[in-house]
Amino acid sequence: MSQRNIYPIYSLIYIAGAERSGSTLLDTILGESKSCFSIGEFRQFWKSFILKNGLCTCQKNYKDCPFWGQILKELFGNTGNIKNIAMYYYKLQKIVERIPLVNLKKQKEYLFKYHKEISEFGSFLKEIYNKVIKFSSAKIIIDSSKVPYWLIVLKNFIPNLMVIHLVRDPRAVTYSWTKRKFDYSINNYIKTHHPFTTARNWLKYNIALEKIKSELQYYYFLRYEDFVNHPNKYLREIEKSFNLEKNIFPEIRNYQLLVKKDRHQVGGNPDRFKMKNIQIKGDFTWKKQLPLKYKIFITMLTFPFLKRYKYLF
Ligand SMILES: [Zn+2]
Repeated sequence: MSQRNIYPIYSLIYIAGAERSGSTLLDTILGESKSCFSIGEFRQFWKSFILKNGLCTCQKNYKDCPFWGQILKELFGNTGNIKNIAMYYYKLQKIVERIPLVNLKKQKEYLFKYHKEISEFGSFLKEIYNKVIKFSSAKIIIDSSKVPYWLIVLKNFIPNLMVIHLVRDPRAVTYSWTKRKFDYSINNYIKTHHPFTTARNWLKYNIALEKIKSELQYYYFLRYEDFVNHPNKYLREIEKSFNLEKNIFPEIRNYQLLVKKDRHQVGGNPDRFKMKNIQIKGDFTWKKQLPLKYKIFITMLTFPFLKRYKYLF
């Protein structure tokens, strides 16, 4: 039997970029389409959802969420041993998330050294995405895990991989990471990041995505600031760029969207719990609130990419 008969044909839209780039908003809007199913920032599945007993957007943990409960049962049978299974896959995930992103020679050596573990992680992702398609009856999965490490694996495992490279002004991203945010799903505050760490990660992830984009069949570059100003324009452009049916994504009226679908996003910005009646509005608080010294520092550090992504003027 060919693979085509075993697995349904589906596409995966992977939202890639630095964290706090507005992916929760984009992910939730795309996920509202009848053909799509958003799993949120899926890289939090093992760590936050299973090991830390975090909450899905349906407000339930893995033991009670009807959607993930049936998937875990079908994949692993009795879930009594699930924490050990989670530890095992989380260990593989950490190997994947140490792949060198910028130095391609080192990357090649690393991929060779950890070929077995990385392949096993890729096969697992493929299997769990298949179950998401089976139980959601959607045709397209939205995963906003963002990290470029996963793309290095996914491009070899998922045939219809569509990537949205989402970029937001690094000074806005930096400001967002300096604010303390309570994560209701794990009942704790998310760690803040020093501006240097944020700027370094922003740069590293965007350099990695610029390097990998030529290997992707479907790639779309999107600035958060453009999207919030003209959501419909960019939703239609994404459809066109990915060869998807026209108007498959929702039409936004007056910069508002009422989210009607039941959601089972397992990770991401805690704001995902508030996404019911979405007001699409750019957040530019950083312009007033980010201290001048950090504005200068981030601008200098990220200068070539700020210019490339037209954030200078
Ligand atoms: Zn759920």
